[in-house]
Amino acid sequence: MSSSKNSRPAPSSSVPKQGSARSAAGAPRTTAASAPKNAGAAAPPVDASRPQIRPKAEGWQQPMDAEGRPKLQFAQPKVKQPPKHLADMTLDERITRAKELGISGFRAKQLSVHYFRHYTSDPDQMTDLPAETREQLVEEFLPPLLTEVRRLKTYDGATIKFLWRLFDGAMVESVLMRYRSRITLCISSQCGCGMNCPFCATGQNGLTRNMSSAEIVDQIVQVNRAIAAGELDAPNAAEIAEEADHAALGEETDFAESEESAAAGKGASSSSGVGPQRVSNIVFMGMGEPLANYKRVMNAVRRMVDPAPEGLGMSARGITISTVGLVPAIRKLADENLPITFALSLHAPDDELRDELIPVNSRWKADEAIDAAYHYYKTTGRRVSIEYALIKDMNDHQWRAELLAEKLNARGRGWVHVNPIPLNPTPGSIWTSSEPEVMRAFVNRLESLGVPTTLRDTRGKEIDGACGQLAAAEE
Ligand code: SAH
Repeated sequence: MSSSKNSRPAPSSSVPKQGSARSAAGAPRTTAASAPKNAGAAAPPVDASRPQIRPKAEGWQQPMDAEGRPKLQFAQPKVKQPPKHLADMTLDERITRAKELGISGFRAKQLSVHYFRHYTSDPDQMTDLPAETREQLVEEFLPPLLTEVRRLKTYDGATIKFLWRLFDGAMVESVLMRYRSRITLCISSQCGCGMNCPFCATGQNGLTRNMSSAEIVDQIVQVNRAIAAGELDAPNAAEIAEEADHAALGEETDFAESEESAAAGKGASSSSGVGPQRVSNIVFMGMGEPLANYKRVMNAVRRMVDPAPEGLGMSARGITISTVGLVPAIRKLADENLPITFALSLHAPDDELRDELIPVNSRWKADEAIDAAYHYYKTTGRRVSIEYALIKDMNDHQWRAELLAEKLNARGRGWVHVNPIPLNPTPGSIWTSSEPEVMRAFVNRLESLGVPTTLRDTRGKEIDGACGQLAAAEE
């Protein structure tokens, strides 16, 4: 184990800056010279002489800034914003607005129940509201936000990708994944993305605009409506058994609480006892960088967590925010006093590679991002996740597993787990996922160094609904 330490390239003091790093791209970074020394018992042969592939955009032009670095867009362009919707407002704000319209505040509450508990925006179904105010209320508080354009289901019926058109023609996607004991929705927070990561399809067209809080929440409400209509198949016996296997391998199964709260909701419990009948878990892993749209995302999270009629009454623990590493926003998130789950897209432990793989690393380095993740853990007590897309010959080397373990362990034990995921293909790219045995070796090395690690599945790949594949084209 210790022997492979020597196989790590020189420390970053000798690492060239971005521009020159690229010119060094051809030079294998696996230190072919020192590798044979370690090719004995400890180091698996797969690590010995593999080339160092470097990231660069393929099949598309990566926009650059004036200094020749990949462009980052933190602020949205000045474009028209979506109409205000009930889900943008707190219950008090809705009541105040109703009164301004000469309608009793109680009606705003009833309307909120229709939306958050019955998932309806259809005035005809709101029979407890006086006919003459229904239309007015719906027009004022429930403007249509997401229009379903297309729905793609995997052949096993367990994964559905939804394509939505927003009021201005912008398109976003959400991916619904049914597991035995939870239903997870992967949601979008921005139209496009300004983070420009070369391996992710979403960033290829830059950032169109931020999504509003209500647009973010409406993804869940519309999907809950589809589930309530029976459109998500129930798991079969084989899948249940398979998932039990996963659990035995250490798959996260810590979302029981959200299922309890789901069970309290309408139509929640299923007689077969195989989990909730509405979305129980949310991952902000669809389109966009959630922390670049901080205010609206947090307002949306409040709506998800607050019980009806204020919101959806979901468990905060079942909500995961994933970020490319916007350090000040991570620290702010830690202070929100909400037990949400935090995930950092690290993808490389060394700045030399991460500078190229994650353009925002030019602002906040790998160590700063890891420090911020650790701060999140210290402040909230919630174990954090490190996401790591395994890309063949790029970031899957043994020495990187070791460097990652070293950096995580240096901050403490038990505060973090690593979620490697095989890279999903994106249009035009020749990069590919690491080989299975290399992935296993990467995971094993982390585990052997005391870092809990779970290889994530690549749900939805065949419908381009997996991580990094969401690009929302109408075809
Ligand atoms: N902007 C956020 C959330 C969106 S992406 C973030 O970066 O975390 C959700 C996860 O999918 C991130 O970890 C992202 O790096 C990863 N991802 C992007 N493209 C991918 C690809 N082609 N294959 C596998 N994972 C990918």
